Amino acid sequence: MSAPSHDPQPASPTVPSSVDVAVVGAGFSGMYLLHRLRELNLSAIVFEAGGDVGGTWYWNRYPGARVDVESLAYSYSFSEELEQEYEWQERYPTQPEILSYARHVADRFDLRRDIFFETRVTAASYDEQARTWLVRTGHGDEVTARFLVMATGCLSSSKLPEIPGLDRFEGPTYHTAHWPHEGVDFTGMRVGLIGTGSSGVQSIPVIAEQATALTVFQRTPAYSLPARNRTLRPDEIADMRANYRAFRQAQRESGFGVPTPIPEKSALEVSEEERDATFEQAWESGSLVNLLTAFHDLSIDQAANDTAKRFIHRKIHQIVRDPRTAADLCPEYPVGTKRPCLDTDYYETFNRPNVRLVNLRRTPLVEITDRGVRTSDDEYAFDAIVYATGFDAMTGALTNVDIRGRGGASLKEAWSAGPRTYLGIGSAGYPNLFMITGPGSPSVLSNMVVSIEQHVDWVIDAIEHLDRQGLRTIEPTEEAQDAWVDHVNLIAGATLYPKANSWYMGANVPGKPQVFMPYAGGVGEYRKTCDEVAAQGYKGFALST
Ligand code: NAP
Repeated sequence: MSAPSHDPQPASPTVPSSVDVAVVGAGFSGMYLLHRLRELNLSAIVFEAGGDVGGTWYWNRYPGARVDVESLAYSYSFSEELEQEYEWQERYPTQPEILSYARHVADRFDLRRDIFFETRVTAASYDEQARTWLVRTGHGDEVTARFLVMATGCLSSSKLPEIPGLDRFEGPTYHTAHWPHEGVDFTGMRVGLIGTGSSGVQSIPVIAEQATALTVFQRTPAYSLPARNRTLRPDEIADMRANYRAFRQAQRESGFGVPTPIPEKSALEVSEEERDATFEQAWESGSLVNLLTAFHDLSIDQAANDTAKRFIHRKIHQIVRDPRTAADLCPEYPVGTKRPCLDTDYYETFNRPNVRLVNLRRTPLVEITDRGVRTSDDEYAFDAIVYATGFDAMTGALTNVDIRGRGGASLKEAWSAGPRTYLGIGSAGYPNLFMITGPGSPSVLSNMVVSIEQHVDWVIDAIEHLDRQGLRTIEPTEEAQDAWVDHVNLIAGATLYPKANSWYMGANVPGKPQVFMPYAGGVGEYRKTCDEVAAQGYKGFALST
């Protein structure tokens, strides 16, 4: 994959000693937040560890990386001019195309002058007397801010497999979330790839085309649907441009931030022919949401979900010629309880003579050696290793910063048994600290751009409210937080989600508490709750002068 040119603008020369709002992260959240803060005439700065804007799309440059929400939906809605002028190329745009959109937004709204690039925030502590946050960076900068907003993303703290020998391999190694900007040419190489989540599923077909031999190490298979990606037709773009306002409203009211008809039927009440035809339609449509909402009970009823599982297993066996490989690629957990994937030729790739699958359930990983990868029954020699092993999701980027609230309490310690938030926006004991798409909000179960805009707008309204009322602090009460955590668990408990060892549950990180972290009640319902909280004078938050 050829990476886009890497051409960040120079950051401002010095960090101011004090601002109204300090923002961590210049991905889609931090960029929009900065724009909105400026509209309020508040002073704001953004710290960003990367060399440019874009967040996820700055870091994840692996071959085949693209979004699995359609471009016209995975875009900002706050500026009609932006909507009308930006020309998306593909149904599911590539990482370079999305990064170029983020860069366009940064230029168009002149955002970079308040962003400090290549600057990682390491610590933030709350001063109860002054009612301000002191934010520290890895360069030793310090800034005092009335408000601190963590716009750090849900999937930004990457992880490697927990096996011995990671530094022993003599060839190059790559993590999908830290891909070299200049790209990697695997021509003539024997490549080993560990991990079959979305990043693995997207990169495997592309790497297989280049490498002499590709060995895929799979611990848990993924459910994946063909993306049926294509270039957008001019008439589709014109239609969308004419109908953006109604579409945006429908996004906000929907379950996943992607408008879809609400399913009325149970998978168990229809004939086998009707069920198969419905699943076939979803499979052909190239849309994950169409599959997940094909029937109303897929996410809550095991028997209903089993029908979707059997359908996908059949598809895998139809595509993959070797029956043992096909069987190994068939997941057993309920469909949708781990993040499903959207692919281009994923299952087909296992028919290539240069690709083999190693089922780690049968022969577990033992170690990385100087030559390659050792499993319980063999050693595989490689010229390069790719880790597609994912992230310490949802909490990692927050707890990696040494955040200290009232009484010097560490957020990491406060969340040692799992994250505790009110609405996924704030946490008791941490006044004037906001999280964008934090744990306890729909976040990763939604079209992220829709959820990001909703949180940013809510936070902006809250700050405006405080300033208008002459108030200085906002902080969730323990009672409201406890009730929200219970509510998030109650909703998750009514679904099949907890049945899988997913990163939604923290199960991919050894020792991480197993708690279902996102809010599964849907984007539309969640928005209503947040709006009601604000309308009732920020019910559940303590506001003070
Ligand atoms: P992931 O879904 O967490 O997948 C990581 C893979 O590595 C899993 O197959 C995991 O197996 C395996 N793994 C981790 N540790 C391992 C170990 N010690 N030994 C063996 N295998 C190990 O990570 P990801 O693929 O980077 O995707 C993360 C999320 O980012 C996605 O779910 C999605 O939300 C987002 N994403 C989206 C897109 C898109 O929009 N198209 C693309 C990429 C990523 P287990 O399942 O057994 O843990």
